[in-house]
Amino acid sequence: MPQFSDVALPVPLDMVFTYAIPEGMEPVVGGRVLVPFRQQRMSGIVVELHDRPPQENASHIKIKKVLEALDLAPALDEHLLKLGKWIADYYLAPVGEVFRTMLPLSAEFKRAVTYRITEEGRMALHLAGMSGSPARSKRTPDQQLIEFRVLDYLAERESVREGSLRAATRVGKALLGGMVRKKWVVREDVSAARHSARLVRVAVLLRAEERLEASPPPDGPETRPHLNLAPAGVVPKKLNDNQRALIDTLAAAGGRVPVDALRNLEVPHSTLGTLVRRGLVRLVDEPQEFTASKLKPRPSPFDFEFSTAQKEALRKIGAAVAARKFSGLLLHGITGSGKTAVYLACMRQVLDEGRSSILLVPEIGLTPAVAADLHQVFGDEVAILHSGLSNAERAEQWHRIRRGEARVVAGTRSAVFAPVRDLALIIVDEEQDSSYKQEETPRYHARDVAVMRAKMADAVVVLGSATPSLESYYNARKNKYRLIELPDRVEKRPLPEVEIVDMRLEFQETGQEQVISRKLAAEIRERLEKKEQVMVLLNRRGYSPVVLCRACGKTLQCENCAVSMTHHKREHKMECHYCGYVARIPEKCAHCGSEYVYFVGTGSEKLEELLHGMFPQARIGRLDRDTVRGREDFEHALNALNEGRLDMLVGTQMIAKGHDIHGVTLVGVIGADMALGLPDFRAAERTFQLLTQVAGRAGRGNSPGKVILQTYFQDHYAVQFAAQHDFAGFYEKELQFRAWMHYPPYSAIANVLIRSEKLEEALTWSGELGRWLEKTRHEGIRVLGPAAAPITRLKRDYRYHFILKSPSREKMNALLRAMLAEAAARKIPRTQVIVDVDAVWLM
Ligand code: ADP
Ligand code: ZN
Ligand code: ZN
Repeated sequence: MPQFSDVALPVPLDMVFTYAIPEGMEPVVGGRVLVPFRQQRMSGIVVELHDRPPQENASHIKIKKVLEALDLAPALDEHLLKLGKWIADYYLAPVGEVFRTMLPLSAEFKRAVTYRITEEGRMALHLAGMSGSPARSKRTPDQQLIEFRVLDYLAERESVREGSLRAATRVGKALLGGMVRKKWVVREDVSAARHSARLVRVAVLLRAEERLEASPPPDGPETRPHLNLAPAGVVPKKLNDNQRALIDTLAAAGGRVPVDALRNLEVPHSTLGTLVRRGLVRLVDEPQEFTASKLKPRPSPFDFEFSTAQKEALRKIGAAVAARKFSGLLLHGITGSGKTAVYLACMRQVLDEGRSSILLVPEIGLTPAVAADLHQVFGDEVAILHSGLSNAERAEQWHRIRRGEARVVAGTRSAVFAPVRDLALIIVDEEQDSSYKQEETPRYHARDVAVMRAKMADAVVVLGSATPSLESYYNARKNKYRLIELPDRVEKRPLPEVEIVDMRLEFQETGQEQVISRKLAAEIRERLEKKEQVMVLLNRRGYSPVVLCRACGKTLQCENCAVSMTHHKREHKMECHYCGYVARIPEKCAHCGSEYVYFVGTGSEKLEELLHGMFPQARIGRLDRDTVRGREDFEHALNALNEGRLDMLVGTQMIAKGHDIHGVTLVGVIGADMALGLPDFRAAERTFQLLTQVAGRAGRGNSPGKVILQTYFQDHYAVQFAAQHDFAGFYEKELQFRAWMHYPPYSAIANVLIRSEKLEEALTWSGELGRWLEKTRHEGIRVLGPAAAPITRLKRDYRYHFILKSPSREKMNALLRAMLAEAAARKIPRTQVIVDVDAVWLM
């Protein structure tokens, strides 16, 4: 065994740490070890085992020893280790922090200590119970009483966590230690992750061949045991309507539905019991992650004939996978062109070949239909990683994937690190979505990591979108990716007609600032009369975004951030949308004491109220982060819309994402061009994407859709091209702008943010680094700044930044690395200098 181990620790330092390996311990590369680090114990990843003694330059520093090897086999295999090192290098992130992000196993470090009673313990309890107290004891009666209590408590239970045991019996550490030594109780370390996830009861439709064994003895003289020998798929006769309805529902949902979801059917609950007794259905308890979404069981995603374009896409992706070497494909399919069905079919093929695939989605909690489809197609071969999972559940999923039980993985950003074997395919849905960028260290972009992972694994990556990012579109044009197009909606449905309403004219003609234009109001009325459905997008939550003093002109700002607080009427509070700070609603101006404070502007909460006022008879729902606490609320609202229990849905960009609701024929867009006013070079791209996405929600059923787009920027090319569904036109124009301005995709870009709670520090540090950058040669790299960041103060920190642009990523990263070294030499804490390579959010 080598003598030393280099360990990557999750600390903000760009280095690994060398520890000695004690006799008899066998850590593995890629495995976790527990080590001492600055008075703490910390777990890290072994990156190298070797025999080179570290240079103990300060001779008083003694090399420390590894405390424990936590894994017998690597937690990160060779590929993932390599990927992690690439991320650390590309994004200038500490490698230990990268590995921590890649391994969702933090739950396992929170060791739970539990106690269990032994046979000796039971005997002692028994004796104590007979004689009143154990004989010849050195302990005080009090201590004996507590011991008795502990044994009594444990005797009734399997195993008890230390915390609960101590709370219930008030036993101290020392006394408990004594009981362990007497072998009355045993102490066990269990990793929290091993505690099983919550269970959910699922009804499973049995196939014919399964029915026989499951079938209980016949319950009546005329029931013959052979009843159950029907061929597969054929359900025995003599079912009543309720029973048949239940069976049909189960069959349509791929054979398994959570019992809770079946309660929505208008069938008495006893029917399920009857079917179980007849051996047609079995009830099983499954960990929650297997359960299908509560969305109504849907028809199979493959019930229809694929369109020619879909077949062609499937064929091309299939051929690329079969080639077993890297290729990147950009699947550009307009909204409603059936991309999801293509993804699922490709993943099915990969699974049938015994290989693995990963599907990345922006926010799975917000696309319940996709989760339902995944369960339907893959049953429990799929692991779904979404934001609603606890750490322990996440760890559990990780192990399932690692063991090869789940070879299909779907999830958000970090699912790109899923430890699948024999990776064949990664699909990144809505690849332009900014949620793929992690806005904390390591600041990686999951799409780009997906591409790199596929490269390293000789796998195929498919980037899918109706509105690809400029970067990906450019790569496709330069033949770095192959472009696959789905140019039409399924079943030849037309794209919706888009009508622009110029809100400047609206103001001139009505003499008032309008939220809902006359045109939009008229169109809504028409749909409501025809019993069709409407969605209205306003990408800003809360009631009013600004509180303004008419006397001094100042606005109410957050205590911690240089941004306006938003008024939330129903919850009766002011809230900062950046840091969550909450304040009371002001009666007077905080600056001058004037009572003339006004609430200005409109958020989704106020929009809902306005619409209620205009259309009192309409049933209106709202979807935004204030009404949606979790996936359940979300599904609830979508189900209500799907089933016609709502006429109108109001909301933020949440309503724009990927939903497929057939009754919606009108989409109103209010202030979706707000971003155009922001100092961000991606403003036009984001606006175009959002407008296209939300417009794509209209007309997905049999009636054609219409979009009313209210704007103050009616001449802006992002608005115009979106209205004309002219993707190519937008990209050409936007590429020109990016080329002129040396922005991505023509330049690599990095944002360097210097932050401190003390204004002086932020100023001094950014000044020092600014001067260093000035006198350091950096040919081919443009440096802008230092300048105050657009949001000058955020979460108590004052913020200054530099923007670096260069056609050469290598040069840019070299300069950034040198700058970090300079910052370290000047004792600027690493956590206060944020390097964001390929920055997405520049505010
Ligand atoms: P996209 O993601 O491209 O916007 P979806 O994948 O959500 O589109 O598909 C839109 C709808 O069309 C879904 O309800 C899907 O089940 C259905 N669909 C997909 N392919 C076909 C097809 N070939 N024929 C009929 N319907 C289809
Ligand atoms: Zn004032
Ligand atoms: Zn704030």
